[in-house]
Amino acid sequence: LKAIAVLTSGGDAPGMNPAIRGVVRAALSHGIRVYGVNRGYSGLIIGDIWEMNSRSVTNIVQRGGTLLKSDRCEAFKDPTVRHQAAEILREREIEGLVVIGGDGSLTGAALLAEESGIPVVGLPGTIDNDIHGSDDTIGFDTAVNTALDAIDRIRDTALSHERLFLVEVMGRDSGFIATQVGIACGAEMVVIPEVEFKIQSLCFQLANNRVKGEGSSGIIVVAEGPRPGLTYRIAQQLEENGQSPKVCILGHIQRGGSPTGHDRVLASCMGATAVDYLRAGYSSIMVGVQKGEVLDVPLKEVLERKKPLASEWIAMSSLLHK
Ligand code: ADP
Repeated sequence: LKAIAVLTSGGDAPGMNPAIRGVVRAALSHGIRVYGVNRGYSGLIIGDIWEMNSRSVTNIVQRGGTLLKSDRCEAFKDPTVRHQAAEILREREIEGLVVIGGDGSLTGAALLAEESGIPVVGLPGTIDNDIHGSDDTIGFDTAVNTALDAIDRIRDTALSHERLFLVEVMGRDSGFIATQVGIACGAEMVVIPEVEFKIQSLCFQLANNRVKGEGSSGIIVVAEGPRPGLTYRIAQQLEENGQSPKVCILGHIQRGGSPTGHDRVLASCMGATAVDYLRAGYSSIMVGVQKGEVLDVPLKEVLERKKPLASEWIAMSSLLHK
């Protein structure tokens, strides 16, 4: 293996930088040239590719976002465009590609590998933790901690003003972030797409708290869900039931910021392991972590299945409510 390339694609996640660094430093240590592709597949299809050296990744391990930039590239869904991308890699004698991103990016990676025969290894880079085949994804731990930091501040105001706050965290299809954040911030309730939400049970619980003399302050963590505006709809329903909640949408702050120690270590190990797999001749796999062990998972398997939120987590989060 003489040369490989690395790109970041889709939604950025804190830890993409240490992952890039892991790939670059591991490859160079084995005498393999490394190319960085700017702006994900958008850069790949126009050959926006540059040779990296050890210094290219100096001072990025602690930075959020991605040094290589990220993008969404509709054109890459076209097989002809993917064929051109493969030609660009071949012209530069690049014999392996590492793709860091979420399930959309990994779908593109699987198709490129299958159609072109160029070895591709994926890394799960998304704050949502919703990738089958890996217990953890690069950026999840940081996003949970960022949301917690914000909610701890909101809690001060909630307590001082005896107010109820609905705090919306990211998670369109899954309640991974909401559940962990809910447990860790001591939320009064967590609303997630996996469990049907009933306004009556929330109102009942709030009334119960008041009867017990626990005041009317509280934090309800809401996963954004598939349809925008869920948190405002819940707030309106609460108002119709005599409550006056405040809404706080955490939004993009959850995607940025310095990666936690956990994410830096995870990303560094995954980046270096991706190079090991390419050297060993693997392709169409993702580097995953299962029960603490870093391993290879076929991309086909990763993309065929949805990762469910473990029922134990859902049970734990409701167990801890008042
Ligand atoms: P994420 O990787 O975070 O899930 P997206 O779903 O937006 O983000 O996907 C990122 C990019 O991956 C897309 O803009 C596109 O370039 C590529 N991609 C997504 N789905 C496909 C697909 N079905 N075929 C080929 N490429 C895809």
